[in-house]
Amino acid sequence: MARQFPWVLTDVAWSPVQEFTRGKHLGLPLLSWGTAPRHLLATRRQLTAMGLRPGGQEPVAYMYFRCRRACKQVFAELFLISAAAPKRTATPAQHTAIAKANLARRICGQCGRDAGYVVPREHGKCHPCWEAAEYGTTTTTEWADAA
Ligand SMILES: [Zn+2]
Repeated sequence: MARQFPWVLTDVAWSPVQEFTRGKHLGLPLLSWGTAPRHLLATRRQLTAMGLRPGGQEPVAYMYFRCRRACKQVFAELFLISAAAPKRTATPAQHTAIAKANLARRICGQCGRDAGYVVPREHGKCHPCWEAAEYGTTTTTEWADAA
């Protein structure tokens, strides 16, 4: 049989007033599934989904829910969303995506070569190609006037 948790009014980290909890687990307020304020508290997994990480903070509460299949109580650490930090490191997949995006921005739209720098967004050409396009065919341009 699952252990029953009585409702207990307790001091909590996420509220200036006492809140009803289901007692304590490992010295922290215990909440049942659905009673945790979702805009204030999040599990590690929920933080990750929001692009956040606990950021060195200790959990402020535990949430319990029953895994139907195993018929066991599962405890999840809850963290303050307000104290969470943005994810510092990108995953390898994100690094690859960023590198690909950066490489794409260095490819000249004219000659198709890696310019070695991000080509200007306005014309998308490397400097030699841009120069050839600007000065090779026309003599008077806005650019030439400005220069
Ligand atoms: Zn080029």
